[in-house]
Amino acid sequence: MVKENLAITEERIKAVCERAGRKPGSVTLIAVSKTKPVRLIEEAYEFGIREFGENKAQEMKEKYDMLPKNISWHFIGHLQTNKIKYVVGRACLIHSVDSLHLAEEIEAYCEKKGLDADILIEVNVAQEETKSGIKPEETEQLVKNIAGFSHVHIKGLMTIAPFVENAENNRMIFRALKDLSVDIGRKNIDNVSMNILSMGMTNDYEVAIEEGATHVRVGTAIFGERNIVL
Ligand SMILES: *Cc1c(COP(=O)(O)O)cnc(C)c1O
Repeated sequence: MVKENLAITEERIKAVCERAGRKPGSVTLIAVSKTKPVRLIEEAYEFGIREFGENKAQEMKEKYDMLPKNISWHFIGHLQTNKIKYVVGRACLIHSVDSLHLAEEIEAYCEKKGLDADILIEVNVAQEETKSGIKPEETEQLVKNIAGFSHVHIKGLMTIAPFVENAENNRMIFRALKDLSVDIGRKNIDNVSMNILSMGMTNDYEVAIEEGATHVRVGTAIFGERNIVL
């Protein structure tokens, strides 16, 4: 099942890229394996997938320890400061930094361990009360504050769009994140890159790609429904 699903997903990504005039290969598929067993991750690995996404620090650490070391783990969940130790040094990218405090704690941990951490700033474009992420209008200031750190490196922006039946309803959210990343990129801030745009999930990744996503985070379409509430 997983392999068939991956083949379909990759085919769709390729088709959107063609339609949107983007190079195939300009979009990285992150297989979101949260709550799913190692057996299914191994199936995706055999298919050739090397980028996986997890949203719980300990779960990511356990899977990291069990699976091949050439996997790139993306941490996509809310990160509590006391769980930084499980994630830094294991995740290739932390997608969900949304406060100076969290960035400072990551920096301090990196300093202590002699590590570096690549991060994205999570922006709450949809301005939903319940969602994590910094407000769009506060993003540039946060980026500037983190830019001075020695070990934490900003690589771009991430957003979680609302769940909608019609993906078109999220197009303006993706466009707004892209615009924000272009605006910040133009400032040429030292130690800040805006090359990564992490947006789009099972229901809306095609629209996200049309609007410039470089990384899509797809779970359900690959591994099936998750039966526990997160
Ligand atoms: C669970 C999750 C995904 C994947 O969602 P699907 O709808 O299953 O594709 C993507 N991004 C984040 C941040 C998630 O928590």
